[in-house]
Amino acid sequence: MALISDVKSEFPMLRTPISLIIDDWTFGYLSTEREIPLDLEFRRASDFLLDMIGIGRDGVRGKISLVPYLTKPGGDGKYEILGCISRGLRGIPREKIQWILGLIRDEASVYFDITPEILTHKLRLDVETGRLMDETEWEWSQRQSLESLTRYIAHALRILREAEIIANGVTSPCNFGVEVEGLYARAVLEAEKTVNNIGLTWYFLHVEPNRSVPFVNPRLMYLDEDSGEAVVSVVSCSRDYLSRQIVEEADGDIHKIADSWISSDGKSGRLIDLYNDGAYLIFHTHWHNTHRIDDNTGFRALKEAIHRIKRNLGDNVLWMRCSEIARYFAASKTFKPKLHESPRSIELRLNSPFNCPNFTFSMKTSKEIKRIKINDTPIKRTTERLKPNSWMMKEDRIYICTNIRRQIKIEITPSN
Ligand SMILES: [Zn+2]
Repeated sequence: MALISDVKSEFPMLRTPISLIIDDWTFGYLSTEREIPLDLEFRRASDFLLDMIGIGRDGVRGKISLVPYLTKPGGDGKYEILGCISRGLRGIPREKIQWILGLIRDEASVYFDITPEILTHKLRLDVETGRLMDETEWEWSQRQSLESLTRYIAHALRILREAEIIANGVTSPCNFGVEVEGLYARAVLEAEKTVNNIGLTWYFLHVEPNRSVPFVNPRLMYLDEDSGEAVVSVVSCSRDYLSRQIVEEADGDIHKIADSWISSDGKSGRLIDLYNDGAYLIFHTHWHNTHRIDDNTGFRALKEAIHRIKRNLGDNVLWMRCSEIARYFAASKTFKPKLHESPRSIELRLNSPFNCPNFTFSMKTSKEIKRIKINDTPIKRTTERLKPNSWMMKEDRIYICTNIRRQIKIEITPSN
């Protein structure tokens, strides 16, 4: 009988990955139909960022959109460009822009991936002339080639890079690219390779709020194992429960609003259903729903949900940035174990196209295990919680958590 069988990936440290996605943020106007003073918009935008840094300090991880270009409605259905975040914005002093960019670079980007939500989140920009065209970015995107999509996405990544922000993935405004998703996924990769030299990337496009779909996991959309390239689609599991309509229906009761994600006792809600099903927990909202309504109901309801997650799920979940989820997911779908057994020891080699911190995997064993070495160094056995670089036994399975590189060697020694 084989000593070891059924090698499979697990969640990192056996904790369910969780990630908060915030869409549509930028330094001011974004497709508002009404005229709102730009300094008020900017204040709300900076309040938002400071609050995000606050929840980041408390352990929350995820993604925030930063729309590169600001456009302003002219009232006649037309829009004008106020500028872009790296080259200046009409109506916002330079020092203020530098200040907010500094906050992103120094702290917010430690907790959250910062992505463009392609270029304007409204009308398509002609990247050659810098003019707005007469159709939305997303309508335009549905009939493009790999080359034209790549050029457009690369322009967005470059604007952020000019502001010294490295975006390792992108957010789709509306349903950008959905009808040509195969090309879109490739275009994100080509643009990331060109601008940021990144070969493992991701995008956010899909939302799967349907309760009859209990398993909402990321999707590996493209893989080239030899060159270590992959594109992951990160999917949100719920509607934006902070939308104005939902907030009004709940009469501003933040507890009732948070219930849709997770109830106070942690027994129900969309996140709990998915948690019980063993799925990734990725959920989203929009910054205008958390911070552009001055009573702050949206943000308070979000904080209540986060508080409940902490109280009820605690260390059973692991907050991760979307890029960390993309890497983990890609590694878990592509790692290859190879076993060599002899009567006294077992050698397992893991090959992975991607490096991945705290990669966790398990295997069935028919014997008690005495020692485990990774690349010739013994790792610690733990009895309670799996920590980085440790192993444990649970029933007849061995669980190992370690950083993986292209190839690692695991030596398993049974107790006689
Ligand atoms: Zn959006």
